[in-house]
Amino acid sequence: MRAVQVHEPGVATVLQYEEVATPVPGCGEVLIRLRAAGVNHRDIWVRQGAFGGFPSPRILGSDGAGEIEAVGDGVVGIQVGQRVVLNPGLACGSCRFCLAGQQPSCAKFKIFDGTYAEYAVVPQSNVVPMPSGLTFAEAASVGVPFITAEDFLQKAEVQPGMTLLLWAANGALGLATLQLAKRRGLRVVAVVRSGFKQVDRLRQFGADEIIRWDAGDDVVTEVMNLTQQQGVDITVDSLGQASFEQSLGATRRGGVVVSVGSTTGGLVSFELGQLFRRRQSIIGAYLGSSAILPRILPLFARGELVPVIDHTFPLEQADQAHEHLETSSIFGKVILEL
Ligand SMILES: [Zn+2]
Repeated sequence: MRAVQVHEPGVATVLQYEEVATPVPGCGEVLIRLRAAGVNHRDIWVRQGAFGGFPSPRILGSDGAGEIEAVGDGVVGIQVGQRVVLNPGLACGSCRFCLAGQQPSCAKFKIFDGTYAEYAVVPQSNVVPMPSGLTFAEAASVGVPFITAEDFLQKAEVQPGMTLLLWAANGALGLATLQLAKRRGLRVVAVVRSGFKQVDRLRQFGADEIIRWDAGDDVVTEVMNLTQQQGVDITVDSLGQASFEQSLGATRRGGVVVSVGSTTGGLVSFELGQLFRRRQSIIGAYLGSSAILPRILPLFARGELVPVIDHTFPLEQADQAHEHLETSSIFGKVILEL
């Protein structure tokens, strides 16, 4: 089969579109013929070597949708030809966390890599029927951003009427968070780069306030002016280094800061007193329960949630797709089509 692999960490051009062996489904596994793959920032971190070395070439990609091509022994309830969406969290399935539906706390938890390919093998438990009314590209856009956002909003115990500060609101995770937060009755203060043009579209998705920002700008003062000098209840920070200290400063006493990425760098420093004297909590977010995807996919089919696709590239242009995600002022998800 054809696949996009990375042999050594580096910039987007290290991605290689090449022939590799087609995987064979083992006991309890299914072979998916992929039609679309979602591009996540995680793929860029894997490409850069942030998740460890490269013992062998790695196929990238955690989100995907396609059709069942073959099933292994012991697989029941799934037919060849059925349209499915990949549920990207892999866990042991038998520890106390897995049994409680908290797969990301499982010691064996990891996120699947391998959807930048014509075929992928996953356990039967990692596919979800694809609702009719969605295209493969739309179905492949949901996974990582919506599972992650739904999970941290649950964990942060958000309530209607709370105010949420959202960095990088125009990205796939940002738009997932915005839509899910508005469904819960939150007021959302969206932060975008000063050059971002599609402010009207952010408002259509429910952003109540929009702050334009460049590195070095004081966002805290603007947030305080929007919240009667109280600060927001919850801040969602996917930027890391460029924003994290301001995230703590913009959040109220007793509020929550969700750390869900580090697209500007992972090393941060802040005065600890800012955290403990103000009784704040920091939550780390990394995907979420495997029960989330089957629950939210039907909401897309009913139009209650909207898949937002910024741009689609053919699989062989995965390097251009990465460069687009890294350098452009995107709105939504970047997709690879097969
Ligand atoms: Zn487990």
